[in-house]
Order: sequence, then C-alpha cells, then structure tokens
Amino acid sequence: MKDALIFDVRNIQDGVFNTHKVDIPISHFDLELEEVQFTSSVRGNVALLRHGEDDVYVKTEVFTDIEMQCGKCLELFITDIEAAFEVQFTPDNSSDQIDSDYIEDGEHYYDGETLDISDDTRKALILQIPIWPLCSQECEGLCFQCGVNLNEEKCTCDKEDVYEVEASDSTSPFAELSQLLEAAKLDSKSK
Ligand SMILES: [Zn+2]
Ligand SMILES: [Zn+2]
Repeated sequence: MKDALIFDVRNIQDGVFNTHKVDIPISHFDLELEEVQFTSSVRGNVALLRHGEDDVYVKTEVFTDIEMQCGKCLELFITDIEAAFEVQFTPDNSSDQIDSDYIEDGEHYYDGETLDISDDTRKALILQIPIWPLCSQECEGLCFQCGVNLNEEKCTCDKEDVYEVEASDSTSPFAELSQLLEAAKLDSKSK
C-alpha cells in the first residue's frame, strides 16, 4: 500500500504491469473547495507499464467520498466519486528543466527515474464533482411555499397548477439583487 502518488520506475521490469494499491490522505491534494468536503482518503489502484525507451504508461483508478449540499432539499449528503485516467510519461533528456515533472502540450515528461501523478489525480477527481448535486434522483426538494423538506414530511399547501419550481429561483441570493438593479434602472430613467 502506498500513501503517495510518486513512483520510482527505475527498477520496474519492461512490459509487465506493476500494480500498486494506494490510500492517499486527502491533505496530500490541494482540494480546499467551498461547496465540497472530502470525507475519506483517496483509494484505488495505479498500474505502471514501462516500455520502449523508458516511456511509462500509467493507468489510475481511484475513488473517495465527498459531502455536498443537495441542490433541491439543501440537506448535506455524502456520495462517492470515482476517477479513472491514463497518462503516458516520456523521459526528458534535455534536462534544462528545473522541475523534473512537467506537462507540455498535453505530453507528460519525467526525469526517467520518478514520476508524480498527484496533480493528474487531483484534476481527475475535481472533474467528477457533480455540478448540480442531488441527494438522490428521487429527491422531492423543499415546498416552495412553506419550506418543509418534502422528503421528510408532507405539507398541506395547495400545489395545483404548479408543477416544478427550481430551488434556485426561490432561494437565489441574486434574486433580490436583480430586483434592486431593475429598480435602480427605472429610477435613473425617470429622472
Ligand atoms: Zn435532496
Ligand atoms: Zn408546503
């Protein structure tokens, strides 16, 4: 089990997959995001295949758990996310780079000895964070009239003629702002 995403590939055999189980503390990644709490470490498998002139093909499959706020009922919920990606590292023999690992035009270069997939993993995980998080596909959301969580209780509000109201319409902090702006515009015109 490895607790870092840096691999020394000097001693791995050519043409044979080297598979590592990984369990990386979340603090290893720079993942301070306002809407998302990472609630477990990043676990999974990394397979390395060395071939040709020290080229290394890396296949990564990791998963972790995140806590987010449901976009409909506003409750916090935990869900798992999985990220899978493949990258190819090519040794950099020009060696005028100070940083041994770098990416140029989508090509990954390394110093021929160790390679680091921390940043690739971080990006792959971020891509898996839902943009419109829902605690479940069946989430009933909040009653837009009385505000009760309809997953937990029923209310007696009359919902005839109303099918669905996006939570963002009624709860957006910008709704008030846009009204103020409209009012200001009208105000300035009338002068
Ligand atoms: Zn919900
Ligand atoms: Zn209601």
